[in-house]
Amino acid sequence: MSEHKVVIIGAGMGGLSSAIALAHRGLDVTVVESSNAPGGKVHSREVNGVQIDSGPTVFTMRWVFDALLRSVGTTVEAEMRITPLQVLARHFWPDGSQLDLSANPQESEAAIATWSGGDEARRFRDFCKTTRQLYATLEGPMIRAQRPNMGGFMGDLGFKGLGVLAQLGPMRSLWQQLGHQFTDPRLRQLFARYATYCGSSPWQSPATLMLIAQVEMDGVWSVEGGMVGMAQSLARVARRHGAVFRYQSTCQRIEKRHGRVCGVHLQSGEFLPADRVIFNGDANALRQGLLGEEARSAVPQTAPPRSLSALTWSLHTPTQGVVLDRHNVFFQSTYASEFDDIFERQRLPQQPTVYVCAQDRPADLLPGQHERIFCLVNAPASGDGNAITEEALEQCQTTTFQHLSQLGLHLQATAANSLRTHPQDFHRRFPASAGALYGQATHGWTSIFSRPGSTTPLQGLFLAGGSAHPGPGVPMAALSGQRAAEAVMASLASTSKYPVGATFGGMSTP
Ligand SMILES: Cc1cc2nc3c(=O)[nH]c(=O)nc-3n(C[C@H](O)[C@H](O)[C@H](O)COP(=O)(O)OP(=O)(O)OC[C@H]3O[C@@H](n4cnc5c(N)ncnc54)[C@H](O)[C@@H]3O)c2cc1C
Repeated sequence: MSEHKVVIIGAGMGGLSSAIALAHRGLDVTVVESSNAPGGKVHSREVNGVQIDSGPTVFTMRWVFDALLRSVGTTVEAEMRITPLQVLARHFWPDGSQLDLSANPQESEAAIATWSGGDEARRFRDFCKTTRQLYATLEGPMIRAQRPNMGGFMGDLGFKGLGVLAQLGPMRSLWQQLGHQFTDPRLRQLFARYATYCGSSPWQSPATLMLIAQVEMDGVWSVEGGMVGMAQSLARVARRHGAVFRYQSTCQRIEKRHGRVCGVHLQSGEFLPADRVIFNGDANALRQGLLGEEARSAVPQTAPPRSLSALTWSLHTPTQGVVLDRHNVFFQSTYASEFDDIFERQRLPQQPTVYVCAQDRPADLLPGQHERIFCLVNAPASGDGNAITEEALEQCQTTTFQHLSQLGLHLQATAANSLRTHPQDFHRRFPASAGALYGQATHGWTSIFSRPGSTTPLQGLFLAGGSAHPGPGVPMAALSGQRAAEAVMASLASTSKYPVGATFGGMSTP
């Protein structure tokens, strides 16, 4: 075991990925986690004795996990059971129409031709071509890269990449751009929804977020045992390589000595020495001084705009009416009001779009059979105050289930069959987040350059997770964890003039 001690604060996707990569390289890795299980936002809630995934449910970009696990001598197949979904999502509108987006774009195109006409189907084909090009252009310089700066990013894009962005009109919002892509307002609405995957408004997000459509078209998988099963598998791999997990252990302070990190203090009073620390919580926690005064300097002091929070229900209940697939979206006719309510008025949407994850589907269920359902509506990240009252929560619940019912899905959330989670709950669970589930909002075309990278001005402190580059979402947070691990390894290499295990300034150095 190496002399280098690394403490990772948080066992979210970022922390787990860092732990796997660094433990495999032989470093002495300890993961401290406040809760009693790995996963962070990837979590389940128990209703009527049944576990319901109550965080992320859409698993995309499996190549991220293929690469991570292959790099440590195993595979996704060896560690977890995943199944590709044929239907990416089923969509419902108030006019009674319904559209399945399929993993096979030709099937989607045929469905759109029947549903909206041949011209719109051709537009969909063009849209797919554009998103494919866009994704290919941005994967290297943005998604896989350590935090890009504007100059380096432009250079990495090259003439071809710049041409792709110029065609798109990179200064346009996602909503504006989709108005150029489609004439059917339902398709504009459907693809605008992807902005919410990184907690943002389609009206304020850059057109480049169209690439999320390509991410989905590249495949959506379900995981046996749920997304929580995936987090457990990753923790198991990290443990196998020697990482130690300490649950119900909250880090209270990051300690600095001689200008660099030297360990962490736990709430229990214990001190864990470390020459490298990776922080996997919300970067705002550092900014607000929750990890001590010394660590404040690790991130810029100006707080960026917060991403979306959510109001969710985990239910165990029979469903009646429309046939659900695994992922379902129930749209409203007035779309802008949802984002206006959340981002401008800081209130729960009066007309929410509802995401419904039917976790036992696409298998056929018997009539009346209980199934695991997760419903989510977007909400403002105002969980650090009392802005959202019990009355407002009740009102939103009534509106949400009435809306589902009007679009043909009948289910009832009662105290006995459901658990509700609101922004204040998320804030308590993810300190300093205010309930924002995706770090900072991706608003404005320069926002991709404003997330902190994996290195910080505080020597020995690194960042991983949805509030760091490349941003939120399960695979992106996992990528950030790998970038943090690389940065740790690079920092070790850059100081290798010191013999391994020597002491320098009272602490173990490379
Ligand atoms: C309801 C919901 C739905 C979502 N839907 C999707 C989806 O479908 N697809 C998708 O890809 N993404 C989705 N996301 C987003 C995705 O879950 C996150 O972007 C990603 O999981 C964040 O990972 P992370 O590495 O930032 O760590 P986090 O999940 O934020 O975990 C951080 C961990 O650090 C711990 N921690 C923080 N501070 C301390 C401390 N001081 N001491 C000890 N431990 C600490 C916390 O307890 C937590 O476990 C969703 C999120 C939510 C909540």
